[in-house]
Amino acid sequence: MTVQIDHALEEIRRFRPSPEFAAQSVADPALYEAAKADRLAFWADQARELLTWHKPFTRTLDWSNPPFAKWFDDGELNVAVNCLDRHVEAGLGDRVAIHFEGEPGDSRDITYAELTDEVKRAANVLEGLGVGEGDRVAIYLPMIPEAVISMLAVARIGAIHSVVFGGFSSDSLASRIDDAEAKLVITADGGYRKGRVFPLKPTVDEAIAKTAGSVENVLVVRRAENDVALEPGRDQWWHETVGTAPAEHEATAFNAEHPLFILYTSGTTGKPKGVVHSSGGYLTQTAFTHKYVFDLHPETDVYWCTADVGWVTGHSYVVYGPLANGATQVLYEGTPDTPHPGRWWEIVEKYKVSILYTAPTAIRSFMKLGRQIPHEFNLRSLRLLGSVGEPINPEAWIWYRHVIGGGSIPVVDTWWQTETGAIMISALPGITDLKPGSAQVPIPGISIDILSDDGTPVEGESGGLLVVSEPWPSMLRGIWGDPERFKETYWEKFGDKYFAGDGARHDEDGDIWLLGRVDDVMNVSGHRLSTAEIESSLVAHPWTAEAAVVGASDETTGQAVVAFVILKASQVSHATDPADASEELRKHVAMQIGAIARPRQVFIVNELPKTRSGKIMRRLLRDLAEGRQIGDTTTLADTSIMQIISEQVK
Ligand code: ATP
Ligand code: MG
Repeated sequence: MTVQIDHALEEIRRFRPSPEFAAQSVADPALYEAAKADRLAFWADQARELLTWHKPFTRTLDWSNPPFAKWFDDGELNVAVNCLDRHVEAGLGDRVAIHFEGEPGDSRDITYAELTDEVKRAANVLEGLGVGEGDRVAIYLPMIPEAVISMLAVARIGAIHSVVFGGFSSDSLASRIDDAEAKLVITADGGYRKGRVFPLKPTVDEAIAKTAGSVENVLVVRRAENDVALEPGRDQWWHETVGTAPAEHEATAFNAEHPLFILYTSGTTGKPKGVVHSSGGYLTQTAFTHKYVFDLHPETDVYWCTADVGWVTGHSYVVYGPLANGATQVLYEGTPDTPHPGRWWEIVEKYKVSILYTAPTAIRSFMKLGRQIPHEFNLRSLRLLGSVGEPINPEAWIWYRHVIGGGSIPVVDTWWQTETGAIMISALPGITDLKPGSAQVPIPGISIDILSDDGTPVEGESGGLLVVSEPWPSMLRGIWGDPERFKETYWEKFGDKYFAGDGARHDEDGDIWLLGRVDDVMNVSGHRLSTAEIESSLVAHPWTAEAAVVGASDETTGQAVVAFVILKASQVSHATDPADASEELRKHVAMQIGAIARPRQVFIVNELPKTRSGKIMRRLLRDLAEGRQIGDTTTLADTSIMQIISEQVK
C-alpha cells in the first residue's frame, strides 16, 4: 500500500509582511542562502555566534553511526552559564529575566543577576546532596520561578533533569522516577490552579512509596503553604537550604554531547517515550529558532510562552531558548480563566507583552467564548504571535491575527516535536508571506521531505509522510534506556531518515501543510482523508468553536467520517437544536470539501478528550465511534471526560 493522502481543502488567503515589520526584522533571506550553500558550516556558525564555548569545537557533525548523531562533539560548554552568567558578565545583570505572575495575583520580577545567584545557590545545594554529573533529578513543580531555577541548577552541575508536569498523578510520577532512576526529587508543597491550592508534596510521597527506591532526597519549595509532612533525613525545605547557600559557584564545562535532560512525550498516541536531549546541539537550535522565528529584540521585547515547563515547549521556549538569548519573559502560574476569563489579556496589558506563543487549543477555547473578552484589554503591545502543538485551523489563525493581533501582525505556526527539540518548520516573520493553516517552510538548515510508504517523494499536492532527511543539531539522541525502541520508532521505516509520524503535503508554492497524525488518516471508499482538513472545514463554519474528526469502520465505505463538534457559546445560547446543527455542519463539509468528506455523523458535545498539553486524543473518539471499550486514558487531562462525551453521543 502506498500512503497518499487526498488533498481537498483550498486556502487562498495570503499575508505579506508589512514593510515596517520587514525593515526591523532580525532575520535576513541570506540565512536561507547560507544554509543551502553549506548546511554544516551554517550550523557551526550559529553555534559559535549564539553560544559561548569553554572549549571551541572543531568537528560539526559525526553521522558515522546512524541514527546516533554527534554534534560539535569535541567542544565543551556549560548550558547554565550560557543562559545566565555570560549575560551578567556582559553588563545585562539588571535586565529582567522573568516577570513572574502567580495565579492569586502575587508577582515578582527577577533580573538576570538575581536568577544567576539563585541558580548558583541551588547548584551548591544539589552538590551538597551528592548529586553530580550524569545523575538524574526529577522536577515536579508548578509554573513558578523555582522550576526554571531547578532546571538550570541541574544543568549547571552536569546532572540530567526529568521534568514531570505538576498535574500528573503519583503513578505517572513514579513510573518516570523509576524509568530514569532519579536520585533527587524537587517539588513544592503545592501550587495554585483554578483558584484553589493543589497539593504536590503528598503526591510525591505517594509516588516514592511506589518506586523501586532510587530517590535519596526531596527538596520542597514553599509555595502554597498547605500542610505537608517532611520525612526526616530525606526531605528538606528549599528556603532553608537554597535560601541560605552561598551564591558563589564555579561552573565546569561539559562535553557538547553530554545529556541535558530526559522528557517524556505527551502520550497522544500511546505510552510516552523518554526522549533524551544533548547540550550543545540542543542549545544551538533552540537559541537560533527563538531568535529568528520570534524576531527577538532582547532589549525591548517582552516575550510570553504560555506552555508549562512540563512540556517540551516549556523546556525549549520558556527556559533554554529565551534565556540563552537574554530575553525578558513572563512566567504565569495559573489557568487562563482564573479568576476571570480575561486573565491572559490582563497579563498582556500589564507587562506590555510583545511576543505571544501559545497553542491552538487555547486559541479555540477563546474563540468559543467570543471576542468581547480580549477586547476589554489593551493588546496593542503585541507585535508577533506564535502557535504550536497541533495544526492551527485557518479560521483559528485568522481569529488569532484579527482579534488578538489587531489584524496586522504576523502569526507563525511552528511545527516540531519533543523529539526534534526545537522548531523545524515555520515561517520567518518579516521574510515569509504568511498562509493561515500552513506551517510553511523548513527553517534554514533543516531538510524536510514528504515521502510515500516506499520512500519515494510524493509528487504534486498529494499528502504523504513527513520525514526529516538530514540530522539536525537539536535532534533527540535516543530514548532513555531503550536504543531498540529508538531505532524502531523513528528510523526503521526510511533508513537514516527520521520518520515523524505526521502526514503532510506540499502546496503549489512548495509550502508544507500538516495533515494530522498518520495513524489518524481515514480511508473512505479508497480516498485517504486527513483529519486536519475536515476539522478545519468544520471550524470554518461560524457556529463551530472546535472539532475532532475520526474514521470509524463502515460497512459500505470501509471507513466513515465521524465528527465531534463544540459549538461557540453564542450559538449555544441561541439554543440551536443539536440535530439541526449536525445536519447543517454535514452539509457544510460536503459543500466545502466534497461529498466524499461529508461526515456520517456529527455529534455536538461540550468537551473533547485532550492530553494534559491540550492535544486532541482521537484514538479514544475512534473507540467511542466504533462502539468499543475506551482504550488507555492515563494521559488524559480529565479522565472523566470520556464518560461525559459517551453520554452526549448516545
Ligand atoms: P506521543 O508522541 O506520545 O503520542 P505527542 O506526539 O502529542 O505524543 P509532542 O512531542 O508533545 O507529543 O507533540 C508533537 C506532535 O504535535 C507532532 O508530531 C504533531 O502531531 C503535533 N504538532 C505540533 N506542532 C504542530 C503544528 N504546528 N502543526 C501541526 N501539528 C503539530
Ligand atoms: Mg509524538
